[in-house]
Amino acid sequence: MSTEGLSEADAANELMRLAKAIAHHDRLYHAEDSPEITDAEYDALVRRNAELEAAFPHLVRADSPSRKVGHAIAASPLGKVTHEVRMMSLDNAFSPEEVAEWLARMRRFLNLPEGEPLAITAEDKIDGLSCSLRYENGVLVRAATRGDGQVGEDVTANVAHIPDIPQSLPAGVPAVFEVRGEVYMEKQAFTALNAAQHEVGGKLFANPRNAAAGSLRQKDASVTAKRPLRFWAHGWGAASAVPGATQAEVVAKLRDWGFPVSPLFVRLVGGADELVAHFDAIGAARPGLAYDIDGVVYKLDRLDWQERLGFVAKAPRWALAHKFPAERAETIVQGIDIQVGRTGKLTPVGRLAPVLVGGVTVTNVTLHNRDEIARLGLRVGDRVVIQRAGDVIPQVVENLTRDEPRLEAVEPDFTKCPECDSEAVAEEGEVDVRCTGGLICPAQRTQRLEHFVSRKALDIEGLGEKTIAQFFALGWLESPADIYRLRRRRSEILSLEGWQEKSVDNLLAAIEAKRAPDAARLLFALGIRHVGEVTARDLMKHFHELPALRTLAERAHAGDMEAASELTAIDGIGPSVVEALGDFFHEPHNVAVWEDLLAEVSPPRYEVKTVASRVAGKTVVFTGKLETMSRDEAKAQAERLGAKAAGSVSAKTDLLVAGPGAGSKLKKAAELGIETTDEAGWAAIVAEALGGEG
Ligand SMILES: [Zn+2]
Repeated sequence: MSTEGLSEADAANELMRLAKAIAHHDRLYHAEDSPEITDAEYDALVRRNAELEAAFPHLVRADSPSRKVGHAIAASPLGKVTHEVRMMSLDNAFSPEEVAEWLARMRRFLNLPEGEPLAITAEDKIDGLSCSLRYENGVLVRAATRGDGQVGEDVTANVAHIPDIPQSLPAGVPAVFEVRGEVYMEKQAFTALNAAQHEVGGKLFANPRNAAAGSLRQKDASVTAKRPLRFWAHGWGAASAVPGATQAEVVAKLRDWGFPVSPLFVRLVGGADELVAHFDAIGAARPGLAYDIDGVVYKLDRLDWQERLGFVAKAPRWALAHKFPAERAETIVQGIDIQVGRTGKLTPVGRLAPVLVGGVTVTNVTLHNRDEIARLGLRVGDRVVIQRAGDVIPQVVENLTRDEPRLEAVEPDFTKCPECDSEAVAEEGEVDVRCTGGLICPAQRTQRLEHFVSRKALDIEGLGEKTIAQFFALGWLESPADIYRLRRRRSEILSLEGWQEKSVDNLLAAIEAKRAPDAARLLFALGIRHVGEVTARDLMKHFHELPALRTLAERAHAGDMEAASELTAIDGIGPSVVEALGDFFHEPHNVAVWEDLLAEVSPPRYEVKTVASRVAGKTVVFTGKLETMSRDEAKAQAERLGAKAAGSVSAKTDLLVAGPGAGSKLKKAAELGIETTDEAGWAAIVAEALGGEG
């Protein structure tokens, strides 16, 4: 798709959709370690975004993906670490032309005479998790993940169990030195880990990178200790002195200090042809490597030139990631099944004649949804091209036989859930079809129970994934209400292996402690589509009692316009929420589960206690780093003070609270003449209001 002839409105629209989609996939990839799309597809989204931004520079959004590195870290049990020197990402190239253009750009920037050689280092780009290791006086004092590039997670305790990472460095190293590199897992170790996880019903990882990330980011470092993680160094961050004048010299020094570095690290002087030849050689060696790589990283060797070139937005001008294309193969589609996911989403899956792609035998391929099948004109028996990149689930690129006649075309049935027979529906404007069975659908039940007890929902401690799976298998947990009936099974639980008096009593006590749960949490816990934490609170602020919500949702579903408009008039509630609530209560199974649950628990009347404050009724935006509280805490304070916390600055913003590192939002607020304060100013507003309360 080109940007030519694209109207400004269309471009703005597409940029908005791209920002949303990329943020969504960033979150899945970085914060949840469970990507939905291949790396190649992700790269395509990012490139399209860059293309549009280049053609319409005045439309670049404040939340543009090009301004971010990775994803802001999720609410995490690990502590946070602010990087002294930001952890950057790299610009990508996919063709020899782009590599040549990068070299030419640097030459122009440095104003180098024709014939002046440009030494470039090249190393394979390992598919791992970026990590920064801070050494002070030769001792490892802090290890942190990349996070959003500015703030990462503290994994000091976790990396203590990675043998590749020295706890101390030889005498004579700079007083402060941050080594940067990748924590990764070798392919074989990944396969073994997934096999072991499968055995115990644990979480399976999509690829070695996700396995490494999931293993490193553990609250309990003893879990990390059991995972065979490795590390290699490829750069540095803050440093009181840099031991060398070139990239190659410093990398050699890192190796002397005891850090593994890429065995394929080389220094090349010869221009784009030589780089591309090296890239091809590494590509050929790729299947035989013990670890996954997704490309080759080039860096300008001379550090004084790196300094001069500096950075653009989020990436250095002096480095480039040359990525491998996705790997492809041809095969036959032997069948199309429908799988039911956690949220009831029906996903068609193609069963393939087994085929080797990039060293892995592939037998299944995701077909995403009905529209994708239609787009490919796919039928059983078709010959297709599939591709996989970075070990993510393979996908169909092209149907080679779509125009060939076929006697009968058996269409997969998207009208009913194959697991529970409930009606399956697509919302208006959505391609995904979902099972409306909700809590009675066996495919969704255990995952929904997990959601029900999760931290942001009912927050029942001690009822983890494994316990839920075990009790579910025994038939003790059919629906959420059964959780509250577990106390009748005390002796049965005790008879299970691994349970002692104390652990059973702790679990039962944790459950009893949630007999009168917060109504908004309870509503969120039900996992109704579109009803997230915030929506649940918005709804409860209006209704105060759950039965009142149900009555109105049912009326709206039955076509009562007055009821529907009362619902959509609630701040933050749109038609999709109203429809989702209506669908939920329309299924008799859900009503049975709901009534059963409300017989076990009695949430008190929901009231948000707000105190009088000078920001009551106003919209507040927080930006930059907050020193004394988390962003969530700040938002909760705003809510308590009767203010609304928004994510972006607009004409509707009344107050911007800006911590250090506040960027575009601060600028925009200044342009719009919005009142701005710092964290201390905000604390004073809070103190004033709460002081008035007592
Ligand atoms: Zn179902």
